[in-house]
This record gives sequence, structure tokens and C-alpha cells, in this order.
Amino acid sequence: MKIGLMGGTFDPPHIGHLLIAEQAKEQLCLDAVWFLPANVPPHKAADVTSAAQRLQLVEAAVQANAAFSVSTIEFERQEKSYTLETVLELKKRYPTDEFVFLLGADSLASLDTWYQADRLFEAVQFGAVARPGSRYLIPAGAKVTAVDLPSLEVSSTDIRKRVARGKSIRYLVPEAVRQLIEEWKLYVT
Ligand code: ATP
Repeated sequence: MKIGLMGGTFDPPHIGHLLIAEQAKEQLCLDAVWFLPANVPPHKAADVTSAAQRLQLVEAAVQANAAFSVSTIEFERQEKSYTLETVLELKKRYPTDEFVFLLGADSLASLDTWYQADRLFEAVQFGAVARPGSRYLIPAGAKVTAVDLPSLEVSSTDIRKRVARGKSIRYLVPEAVRQLIEEWKLYVT
């Protein structure tokens, strides 16, 4: 199987993440996309929603798509899990599968600063989408395939701000995610 890995903080997951996953699946002929919520240790970022809540938000976001699922692999370590470690672990657990790491242009531009970037570029290929406000720079040595996407100026930061200001986020996040944000009173300052 060819599997897309959609890494992120997902605080909260939004339609941009789902659109990347869906378009990458079609354009890169993926069999499935696994969402990998990052483990952000509480002492590192006090203002990030808890791992357990972000996990439930991502599960709610992907539930309607049979090709999408959530992996908790990055929660298995106490500290932040580096993408290289995650990828190597997945390759060990699923030796016959092929992985493509999906990201937006903002992440792509800083990819060469990621932990042991050379080894990461050896270990995995990337599927990258353009993002408003970010230049599309491919770091030397990385295997990158472009994924075309209608340009979407949505971000988790913007959604958190909208909630804080009492503005609507309907249709910017899946309805099930919106309901959880409301129920848990997330991002209300
Ligand atoms: P924040 O605003 O909190 O930084 P975010 O919206 O960038 O959050 P993340 O969970 O950090 O969301 O993103 C996960 C991945 O999705 C990253 O690779 C990011 O580049 C990509 N991404 C998120 N939103 C978009 C978008 N609108 N267009 C293209 N890529 C996106």
C-alpha cells in the first residue's frame, strides 16, 4: 500500500488539512492517509490544546472518510517525536508499505532545519502543497512531488482567533469538530 502521512498539531484540524489529504490521495495515487497528531509536551507549549483533545478532534475530522485514519504513534514518546523517528518506526512496523509525508509550503520551506534532515530525506518522499503567504521552496536533496490545491487561506491560528472573537467557524472545520470545540469551550479567552 502507498500511504500518505499527514502530520500536524491539529489545534484544531480544519478543511485545509482534509483538502490536502484528499487531493494528495487522488493525485499521488495513495491507498490511505494517516493523520499523525504531534505530541506537544504540556511544559513546552502551555497554550496548545491537550493531546487527548486534539486526538478526538482529528478522529472527528476524519470519521466520514474510509480512506483516512488517525495514528497515535507520536504520542508513544513522552517528549516531542521527531518526524525522522516516526517515519523510521512506521517503516519498521509496515515494511511492505510505501510512505509519502504530506505538508504545506510553509513546512516545506523549513524542512532542511528539521531534525537530521539528510536522513529524513533518505527515509521518505514528500507531497507538498502551495500555501498562501509561503514561497514554494524545495530543499536540496528532498524528493518532493507537488500536489495541486485550490489555494485556501485557512489556518488553525485563524480559527482559534475567530472563536476567541465570537466569530463563526462553521464550514472552516468539519461540523463534528465545530461541535466539540463548542462543547469543550476551546479557544475562548
Ligand atoms: P497553525 O496556524 O496553528 O500553525 P496550521 O493551520 O498550519 O496551524 P498544522 O496542524 O500546523 O496547521 O499543519 C499541518 C500541516 O498542514 C502543515 O504541513 C501545514 O503546512 C499544512 N497546512 C495547514 N493549513 C494549510 C493550508 N491552508 N494550505 C496549505 N497547507 C496547509
